[in-house]
Amino acid sequence: MKIFMTAIALALAFSSTAGAAIYQQGVVYVIYDEAGERAVTNKTDKNSNGVPDVVEDIATQVNAAREVFNGAFNFTDPLKCERFKNVSSIEIDIESKARLNKFQGIAYSRVRKSKHNPTDRTLFIKVANTINPHASSTPTHEYFHLVQYASTYFRNKWYLEGMARWSEDAVIKMKRYPSDWDVPVRLKSKFSERQIFHGSYNMAEFLWYPLAVKMKDKDKIPDKLIRKYKYVDGSRVFQDDVIYGANVMIKILHKMKTKESLAAANFGSLDDWQKSGQRDERNNEIILNCVREVYHEKF
Ligand SMILES: [Zn+2]
Repeated sequence: MKIFMTAIALALAFSSTAGAAIYQQGVVYVIYDEAGERAVTNKTDKNSNGVPDVVEDIATQVNAAREVFNGAFNFTDPLKCERFKNVSSIEIDIESKARLNKFQGIAYSRVRKSKHNPTDRTLFIKVANTINPHASSTPTHEYFHLVQYASTYFRNKWYLEGMARWSEDAVIKMKRYPSDWDVPVRLKSKFSERQIFHGSYNMAEFLWYPLAVKMKDKDKIPDKLIRKYKYVDGSRVFQDDVIYGANVMIKILHKMKTKESLAAANFGSLDDWQKSGQRDERNNEIILNCVREVYHEKF
């Protein structure tokens, strides 16, 4: 994992021509305003390097998430996938909450011209200027959306938001893991199916975590990552070394990739399968069947 070994060493800050400041940490660039409505609300700068600690900590959390999902585990790497070609960086725009429609963050499934180097193209996410990465896993959540986009074109909400919420547990632990006893029923009953298909973030607790627990997919975040990733104040990014469900989620995403032409057939071909089709309700059953197949491979 060469890219990660250099991640922290390459940290530096510089100014862009457009006026916004740019902070780099490995392949991650944070684009932020130093003043005005987009500026981070917490301007603490404990290490006195001229960059608000929040800006550095957001980059650190994204690099940490990236090294777990695309280093320790083999999720499809957004920077090395078929969908996003010739892209070698991830830009994070710090944005005012009002401009984010009150969301904490947004992840985009397209590539844009980079702000740190106009001849480059980059993936990008936006994160609210109010977030505190010590208490919020939004950077991980948004980064995981890039992993999802790299893995499959499906974008039904119960899958997209539910699984991204699941990914947050890598850095900030949920208080109590939900019970897994009724997973077989939830995968079978028509009533649960309706709940799932209307779900969103809440599917993390309803489906994805219980599934991970039921499938006994408990794994470990390597000690060297736990030790490596620290925020500016010295506190650790990872609250512990346990991760549930990473292997199961990888399998499901791989299976979903193989079902894309089946889902696209409702619209003609894969070329006709655009954003609205990628979240079409007819995909629901196809995606849930991927979950069921992965589940039944074990039981
Ligand atoms: Zn999301």
